[in-house]
Amino acid sequence: MRPLLLALLTAFSLGLTAAGKPNVVIILADDLGYGDLGCYGHPTIKTPNLDKMAAEGARFTQFYVAAEVCTPSRASLLTGRYPIRSGMAHNQFRVLRAISTGGLPSTEVTIAQALKAQGYATGMVGKWHLGVWTNSPEHHPLKHGFDFHFGLPHSNDMNPSAGNPVKAGARVDQDAAWWNAPLFRGYELVDPKADQTQLTRRYTEEATNFIAANRTQPFFLYFAHTFPHTPLFASDRFKGKSSRGIYGDVVEELDWSVGEIFKALKEQGVADNTLVVFTSDNGPWLLMGTETGGSAGLLRDGKGSTWEGGMRVPGIFWMPGKIKPTVERNVASTLDLFPSVIRLAGGSMPSDRPMDGVDLTGLLMNQEKIERDVFCYYRGEQLYAARLGAWKLHLITQAGYGEKPVTHEKPLLYNLEVDPSENHEISAEHPDVVARLQAAIAKHRATVTPVRSQLIDVVAK
Ligand code: MG
Repeated sequence: MRPLLLALLTAFSLGLTAAGKPNVVIILADDLGYGDLGCYGHPTIKTPNLDKMAAEGARFTQFYVAAEVCTPSRASLLTGRYPIRSGMAHNQFRVLRAISTGGLPSTEVTIAQALKAQGYATGMVGKWHLGVWTNSPEHHPLKHGFDFHFGLPHSNDMNPSAGNPVKAGARVDQDAAWWNAPLFRGYELVDPKADQTQLTRRYTEEATNFIAANRTQPFFLYFAHTFPHTPLFASDRFKGKSSRGIYGDVVEELDWSVGEIFKALKEQGVADNTLVVFTSDNGPWLLMGTETGGSAGLLRDGKGSTWEGGMRVPGIFWMPGKIKPTVERNVASTLDLFPSVIRLAGGSMPSDRPMDGVDLTGLLMNQEKIERDVFCYYRGEQLYAARLGAWKLHLITQAGYGEKPVTHEKPLLYNLEVDPSENHEISAEHPDVVARLQAAIAKHRATVTPVRSQLIDVVAK
């Protein structure tokens, strides 16, 4: 069939016309755990807007990110590729730092670039963490397909003032003055030391303004929140309100923000033609302790680890009239966003490189079965584990922080459908499954050509 005819038929089957291409909003929390939302079972954090989104859309119970920390996870979300392919992973450094000069290579194609080619207006609000443009201007979101940008270049803890307030007896999450969060609009520094208690509100205003300004054309909004990455700050309206403490205050303010996005979509008359996705970049930062670290619920470990708690996160998809309300138990991942939204927009996938995601539109809209190959759990540049169907095989295990890696001569096997907490190792009972997973891993590895890591280059001293 001729490509144009095929594209037209595809558009017709999805109920799209050229002018009616759906808008796409991806909301990404930072370090929010699998167990931190009401609709994922948190007993005290109140998230009515996300709970409503989940009730009206598809709430995935087995939704993954493709890395266990910020930078590689975000790279994989935007490119639809494991970060090992783009050089956005490193075993030691793990994420880009404020002094880094590396960033997302210009040869990578982002969702924003692919949608821009389909006539979309593209905006990015929030934390980027794919290159520090004050060190390397080419790593700015505006160089990666976004027309509009407002936010921080990196995490909110990466540019501290001199001295250590913890040693001085102060609580870092309460000492706003100690943290420098440089807030930019495009390349313009609008606030060198942004008040972090106002960040969620300011981001939300920018995001809703972007929606209003682009209501008459298809748009893509990538809204990457700074929180609940520590240090934690909430505005006066939310501070001290949650019985979960400051972490609950912060998540409840994020939930308010989600409600404002829905309000804006409805007010602008575009809610019926918009896909909204909510997820997190990695699991909870358990190292932060009881009050400021989140929860992975029943999953093992958290951020930094390839145990489930590090990489299985909330994943909610909402599109009224297209996505039926459901609890979706199929495996899916942020790698799937690229092929899914490109399909919705009527575009085509890059054909000159391996892509790692699966188009979810058939599953989400027509309950079609999806064919999924092995899902790989990388930590830095190393493949630690892989999942195929219900089964997960660990080649290397390591807690998120404070442990050395353990390479297993006999890999560990878990059945995640039966044992999501990874408590019962059963490789001895299923040698055939171990062999099947090892073959799948070998097949995946044959597709990987490692490239030089972008995370090792820093500003010369
Ligand atoms: Mg993170």
